[in-house]
Amino acid sequence: MTAYEWFMGLLDAIGSGAANTHTEAGRRQRQCPAHADSGPSMSVRPGPDGTVRITCFTGCTRDQILAALRCSRSRLAKAAPVPPAQYAEMVGLRIDFPAVEHKRNGPPAARGFRLEAVHNYGRAVLERWRSGQHKELVWETVKPNGARVPGLFGVTLDDLPLYRETEVQMAVAVGEPVLLVESESSVDALRGWYATTWAGGASAVNIGRIAQVLGGYPNTIVIPDNDRAGLACLARLNAAGLAPHVLMPGADEDARDLHRRLGPAGFEQAVHRLLAECTTRQAA
Ligand SMILES: [Zn+2]
Repeated sequence: MTAYEWFMGLLDAIGSGAANTHTEAGRRQRQCPAHADSGPSMSVRPGPDGTVRITCFTGCTRDQILAALRCSRSRLAKAAPVPPAQYAEMVGLRIDFPAVEHKRNGPPAARGFRLEAVHNYGRAVLERWRSGQHKELVWETVKPNGARVPGLFGVTLDDLPLYRETEVQMAVAVGEPVLLVESESSVDALRGWYATTWAGGASAVNIGRIAQVLGGYPNTIVIPDNDRAGLACLARLNAAGLAPHVLMPGADEDARDLHRRLGPAGFEQAVHRLLAECTTRQAA
């Protein structure tokens, strides 16, 4: 468990509420333990090597936050040897958080956003909202009774299955091509194909889960976003041996753009040409 995961677990364990927004880089807004925070105004985000970075936007210092959590500074770099909930109990950590006020960053619907898509990830769903050029992603946790609550509770992005994972498993079973792309909207645009992605976008590629589902599968075709983040993501997939074939879109295109530009027939040709080339190469 990384320091970031442990820290998020501790916030969950003590009931620090979350803003119902989630940015692509993995930054979360949580209630600050060091002041009466109905915000939520504390930003928590992953740093390099699993470390955690915290900032209270109302001005509490990092040391004040850590003191409120009865944690030492080393907790920002390394998970404690005991699970977060047990730790909270051991040190008698009890914080009365006020109710979260969703005034400033209230539900997107109340701020003129319209719901563009809902992507199902089993234990969680990702809502995609849009208002003009502004896009907002909202994660909701699905309770066992089917109710949805804003925020990710007791679930991390890495715990979630791949998008449309069941269909992908079926494709693997029968040897159909599987297109691995970098957003749910690309998956949705590739109608008629077995396509998938992971929760969290190019910056949060879930190597472990992809390896579980697609590891060693020779008919995987990665279609990266052809931009900086997308290519960095492709490099990680390559390093993990999870990109046996790559179909590269044009500059700044993603899979959806490529599909739109080539048209369904042209796209199909491109995929089959790629697979055929590789089969020929292996046979030669
Ligand atoms: Zn604070």
